[in-house]
Amino acid sequence: MKSTVLVCGGGNGGHIITGLASSRGIAVRVLSLYNHEANRWQEITSENDMEIVVQAPGSSTRYIRARPDFVTKDPEIAVPGADIIIVTVPAYCHETYLKAIVPHLTEGVIIVGLPSQMGFEFQCFDIFREKFWHCIIVSAESLPWACRINDFGLRATILGTKSSLACSIINPTNKPTNEILSSIQGLIGDSPTLYLLSSYMALNLMAKSYVHPPIMFARWKDYDGVPLKEKPLFYQGIDQFGADLLTQMSDEILQTARVIEETKPNADMKKVTALLENFFKFYEGQIKNKTNLLTAFRSNRAYDGLVHPMKSVNAGFVPDFGHRFMIEDVPFGMCVFRGIAEIVGVPTPAMDEVILWYQKVVGEEYLLDGRLKGKDVIKTRAPQRYGLYTLEELFGLQK
Ligand code: NAD
Repeated sequence: MKSTVLVCGGGNGGHIITGLASSRGIAVRVLSLYNHEANRWQEITSENDMEIVVQAPGSSTRYIRARPDFVTKDPEIAVPGADIIIVTVPAYCHETYLKAIVPHLTEGVIIVGLPSQMGFEFQCFDIFREKFWHCIIVSAESLPWACRINDFGLRATILGTKSSLACSIINPTNKPTNEILSSIQGLIGDSPTLYLLSSYMALNLMAKSYVHPPIMFARWKDYDGVPLKEKPLFYQGIDQFGADLLTQMSDEILQTARVIEETKPNADMKKVTALLENFFKFYEGQIKNKTNLLTAFRSNRAYDGLVHPMKSVNAGFVPDFGHRFMIEDVPFGMCVFRGIAEIVGVPTPAMDEVILWYQKVVGEEYLLDGRLKGKDVIKTRAPQRYGLYTLEELFGLQK
């Protein structure tokens, strides 16, 4: 039996998964709850196919034409009958979509966080309540592609495709996990190859959402507010302080994973590896100087020309602290790492330094007296926000 797929979100990733899955003969609907996006896309799609441009180094560009069945803003129309629901929006929008779909969820539906970002499972647990135990929650470690919309509803480009992608499955139903994974693989095609981790906790600790905030912190912690004439380089502009901070944070996460593994030997934490190791693997052939993290960042050709997120003002540019590198990666990334580390008793001085700076910049409070108990923890996806305070409770989600 062919699946019916619902894509939640009309952004870059939403366009690509919609185009790829529809081009493979799968019935695809789209739910967008953002402004007038649904009406706009529906109007376009009733008249036109969409085109997905697939770029890959060393191969000629491919063009895929496709069309979703329909685009709507109404969850009552979108959700019933969907076997697989792909949530492809920034993590700070997940709550909106999860709350919209929950009344219509039926037993056995597969919900995919593509990507899940950290704490997706905790949020599903909180919002779905009893229904959590009848759904299958798949978390993907990242978006499978680097991608951009060129012309809304009409054209989007895959700039690069990952070769493999880790997933975890919370599966209270008895559906075989290989069937679940292959049904998702069938939507995206051969690449990336999806592979399964036995624990959703490992997938959370593999997240890379701790990379951007310390780079922002290292560059802007002493900023005097004077506009800059040029946007500084982001990754390649990192200094020794920033590289050391990243290394310390990577160590804090590794230490958290090791402590979890001691208590839960089946937790499959082997894939949680040091940042430098991941970095060499991911950017194979693109790093000129592999001496250490500092030289590797500064000499990575994949980062050529990538600058800090900045806003234009009359006199030049000022840092954009409302950028996704901050508002997604701290509350839905670093605070989740911090929350898990707190549960297992691993100290995180490097992470704390960055979180404390961020909370001052945005005027919120997560850390208070060295614990995640500030009044704005409610705006994060730290396990504590959902009343999860022990390792037993965290692993209890994956029965
Ligand atoms: P995007 O910024 O293109 O998503 C925007 C879409 O999110 C909007 O079109 C809308 O459908 C939805 N949205 C935004 N604000 C909303 C609101 N207030 N209410 C309801 N819906 C709202 O995101 P993307 O580039 O597709 O990325 C999705 C996820 O993948 C993010 O977590 C991102 O960090 C991650 N990611 C993206 C890339 C990439 O190349 N695009 C690469 C790696 C990881």
